[in-house]
Amino acid sequence: MSDCLFCKIANKEIPSGIVSEDENFVAFKDINPKAPIHLLIIPKIHLGPISTLGAEDKEIVSGLILKAKETAEKMGISENGYRLIFNTGRDAGMEVSHLHLHLLAGKPLKFEF
Ligand code: 5GP
Ligand code: ZN
Repeated sequence: MSDCLFCKIANKEIPSGIVSEDENFVAFKDINPKAPIHLLIIPKIHLGPISTLGAEDKEIVSGLILKAKETAEKMGISENGYRLIFNTGRDAGMEVSHLHLHLLAGKPLKFEF
């Protein structure tokens, strides 16, 4: 999608502080971090948020979660722990409609709404 911010990040048209990348996924630093470590993990191909997905997207979604796990291991934060969040829709505060998984870590995280 030519007008999608995260497609542009995946294509390196916009710089983003990429921390890891492979054939299918990119992990980069959130521009407005909500924790000492706040990454976004995205598929390189454009998919919409969770609410738009179907069974055909199963492989990418499971791969995205495993990529978050692998990224956490590489960063040495698995032992202390981390939180993974998918926002979808207005009430969740979703801003960008390219599927992304938030990875938050680096301190004990509160659960606040
Ligand atoms: P959402 O609220 O849609 O789940 O999360 C979108 C996230 O993308 C937000 O946490 C926001 O700070 C982050 N974000 C928005 N624009 C940019 C950008 O241009 N670069 C980076 N690295 N993160 C961004
Ligand atoms: Zn996109």
